[in-house]
Amino acid sequence: MTSLSVYSVIVVGAGPAGSCAARFIASRGHDVLLVDRKERVGLPKQCAEGLFRSCFSEFSMDPGNFISGMARYLEVIFPNGTGYRVEDDICMLDRPRFDQHLLGLAGSAGAEIMLGRKVGRVDPQTGEIHLQNGEILEGRVIIGADGPSSSVARSLGIRNWLIPAAQVEMTWPEDDAIYAYLDKDLSPYSCWIFPKNKRGTANVGCFGTASILRRFISRYRIEGEILNRNGGAIPLGPLPRLQKGRVLLIGDAGGLTNPFTGGGLYPAARSARIAAEAVDRFFAGEKLDYESRVRKDLIASDVHMRARTLLASLSNEELDELGRGMDGLVFPGVRFTSGPSLIWRVLRHPGMMKMKYLPLLEVILRYCLAGKVW
Ligand SMILES: Cc1cc2nc3c(=O)[nH]c(=O)nc-3n(C[C@H](O)[C@H](O)[C@H](O)COP(=O)(O)OP(=O)(O)OC[C@H]3O[C@@H](n4cnc5c(N)ncnc54)[C@H](O)[C@@H]3O)c2cc1C
Repeated sequence: MTSLSVYSVIVVGAGPAGSCAARFIASRGHDVLLVDRKERVGLPKQCAEGLFRSCFSEFSMDPGNFISGMARYLEVIFPNGTGYRVEDDICMLDRPRFDQHLLGLAGSAGAEIMLGRKVGRVDPQTGEIHLQNGEILEGRVIIGADGPSSSVARSLGIRNWLIPAAQVEMTWPEDDAIYAYLDKDLSPYSCWIFPKNKRGTANVGCFGTASILRRFISRYRIEGEILNRNGGAIPLGPLPRLQKGRVLLIGDAGGLTNPFTGGGLYPAARSARIAAEAVDRFFAGEKLDYESRVRKDLIASDVHMRARTLLASLSNEELDELGRGMDGLVFPGVRFTSGPSLIWRVLRHPGMMKMKYLPLLEVILRYCLAGKVW
């Protein structure tokens, strides 16, 4: 048996991207339905839970009990133990609470919420959404916010290129920092330790499989009791299309996670905001244009991917050389004023003056200009 309910906007997926989009659209006075396959969003956790404070404002909300600690800086560590530091506050989240809080805000703004319903297929011509239980919904606009393996994107004939990320949460002493390790013997990208002070734990993970994570823990003699294992998939760069007619893709569904760092929370909120603005203009009589607006934003720039490709191509010897050049460098925040100290460092260390390092320097300078990294 099927029934048809019609909405101005249907958002598929109530993760950070979908809940933000539903709230931003509902608070502009449009009727919106937010659907998620889970009965309780945010579980299981699939995140290292770090969010730079400079990115938090994109969520347009006050801090709450979903913050489970603050770190003061990010330390990037090269294979030979050299490193540089980015001094900026980092909110360590409790992701399940964070997601549930965002969902609550969407509901308070007027979005209708439908949990425990899995979307199977979306028809971009008719705006029909077929749920797995046989129900059919219809939206004048559909927003795919259903994460890295998005069914909405697949209905448009596109799919994310995903890499696995493995993680454990383990006991950890009080710590002021979060750490990113570059070591080619382990992962072509990075491994991380993100302590959560208030909980007395750390998320220890890597771009790669559980066996790479085990090697990271043993090589770096990381000690602590493993409390749980989690992980997930991280998209590698924006999809070639982020809109087809009335269907828009935001957050991980559009592959908008930063492929250089793996940070996807800021782009989730940012793309939700851009989509909400496009939807609002559409209902005011303009053409529905999300694609060209989101492509102009730094979240969809190819600068992150070029830096990532460079990082993946460097050997440990080259990383060590880069580490010697950057060793001890402290960026006082991610700000425009940090740029000159990096340029000065490059000039003083001729080993860093190589054409091939340009994507790396460019991405760091772009973050400094934007005043944020994610
Ligand atoms: C191990 C790991 C560590 C990470 N660490 C960080 C970090 O420290 N900082 C950071 O910024 N980012 C991090 N990320 C990335 C970040 O978690 C994601 O970018 C973020 O969750 C994207 O939000 P989203 O709303 O787009 O998608 P999701 O959070 O994936 O939400 C998608 C929602 O859609 C629902 N859904 C899926 N399919 C359907 C369907 N067919 N029908 C209905 N509902 C559906 C799901 O139930 C889910 O609620 C990490 C990712 C991983 C895997």
